[in-house]
Amino acid sequence: MRYKPVVGLEVHAELQTKSKIFCGCRVVNSTEAEPNRFICPVCTGMPGTLPVINKRAVDFGIMVALALNCDVNPISIFARKNYFYPDLPKGYQISQYATPLAIKGSLQIDSLNGKRMVRIRRVHLEEDTGKLLHHDSTESGQPTSLVDFNRSGVPLLEIVTEPDMQSVDEVESYAKKLHTILRYLDVSSGDMEKGVIRFEANVSVREIGSDTLNTRTEIKNLNSFKALLRGVTYEVKRQSDIYAAGNTVKQQTLGWDEKRSETVPQRSKEHSHDYRYFPEPDLPPLKITPEWVDDIQSQIPELPDAKQARYEALGLNDYDAGVLAADRTVAEYFDQVLDAGSGSFPSVTAKSVANWITTQLFGLMNANGISIDEIRVIPAQLVELIDLVESGRINASSGKLVLSEMFENGKSATDIVKTKGLSQISDESLIAEVMRQVLDQNPKQVAQYLGGKESVGKWLFGQMMAKTGGKATPSVVQRVLDAALAEIKSDRDN
Ligand code: ADP
Ligand code: MG
Ligand code: ZN
Repeated sequence: MRYKPVVGLEVHAELQTKSKIFCGCRVVNSTEAEPNRFICPVCTGMPGTLPVINKRAVDFGIMVALALNCDVNPISIFARKNYFYPDLPKGYQISQYATPLAIKGSLQIDSLNGKRMVRIRRVHLEEDTGKLLHHDSTESGQPTSLVDFNRSGVPLLEIVTEPDMQSVDEVESYAKKLHTILRYLDVSSGDMEKGVIRFEANVSVREIGSDTLNTRTEIKNLNSFKALLRGVTYEVKRQSDIYAAGNTVKQQTLGWDEKRSETVPQRSKEHSHDYRYFPEPDLPPLKITPEWVDDIQSQIPELPDAKQARYEALGLNDYDAGVLAADRTVAEYFDQVLDAGSGSFPSVTAKSVANWITTQLFGLMNANGISIDEIRVIPAQLVELIDLVESGRINASSGKLVLSEMFENGKSATDIVKTKGLSQISDESLIAEVMRQVLDQNPKQVAQYLGGKESVGKWLFGQMMAKTGGKATPSVVQRVLDAALAEIKSDRDN
């Protein structure tokens, strides 16, 4: 392709505070709560009401700003962004404009071209709008729209990047990394299905090798990772085709039509002066002291990059380390298992724990549609199981069986091993006895093996494992069998 994308993202994240940003109404899940139950005169824009800032929302904003290496402004100013829409009863949205909460940050992402830095232009606080519900037909046959103000006044954090992403892959990495960080900080549920995080993508293209910024379009209502990536991909292709045909791209605001999988023009680009921004007269400037910033800084948990580096230092490969660090709850579970195992169980290494979690445990979680915070296997129980396997008291396939049982009934590995009689048989004389029986009962297969059909050896091995109910130590079975077959062979050859 002759053209290369340039993308800047605006991300809106609903903050999971208890109450709304300017009133005491509860923040509720707007897809489930009964409409218009969690509203008051302030968040429905009644004349004469006054907004009061929610400190917790500011705390969360500062926390995200710091995690994105931003400078927090000592004073930031709320402004009125004036426009009409039925979900905006005041006729303006309170948002930070000229002086936002924080500026000049960065986020490092992993892309197909290695590590890349995306600059963060600004992070600011604002209020969410209500929600329109459109109905195609009613009794009268007329389409109608209903409005639900439960979401009106929910705190939103807007995070805006510089136009630094140069491929769809980089857009994906950035969006997912930011989502992970918001989840880590526990400031947003990150629940994409509930529309808690929404993207707007600013897209332009330029010829490969050029570094001028061309005219961009802005795609609104991208409410999932999938929509974001498809929307950007579509727009990059559309603009490239326009330039290839010798035409120019018009600056526009577009909507993403998921059903038709295309961007559709909504309006020619609005300009900031259209909104007649002016400082919100009912809110004082927001002063953030260095002490406040320090206090929030001290509450920031270990972030995914630091966790991943720590896991790699424990000997995990970057893939496993990345998978475990990607989700805070998974990472904390992994850390707890390590803590429970350290010292008392030398066989329970970071590597063995990582293996059990990423293969067996994730497998069971996927198959049952259960997330890590819902599982019944507590960290100490997983340690016990891993120790049973690693120390050779049960074999690996029994271990998997035991784990699936633990997963179902929450019992301890030792109990399950006892009731199921799964203790591993490593006793060579016992295994040798089983082998003699298997060889005696299958003379035909033994002859085939001696005739050169080596694969029969695997079958004989399987027979021995089956006779012990899968409890024999596979390595001992293999050794005893190999020795016996070699002996029969040499007897015959002599
Ligand atoms: P506004 O939406 O208020 O006009 P800006 O023009 O400053 O704000 O930028 C909004 C977003 O668009 C930012 O994320 C910025 O990185 C991005 N952007 C600006 N110019 C371009 C461009 N030529 N191509 C792609 N993205 C751009
Ligand atoms: Mg914009
Ligand atoms: Zn309210």
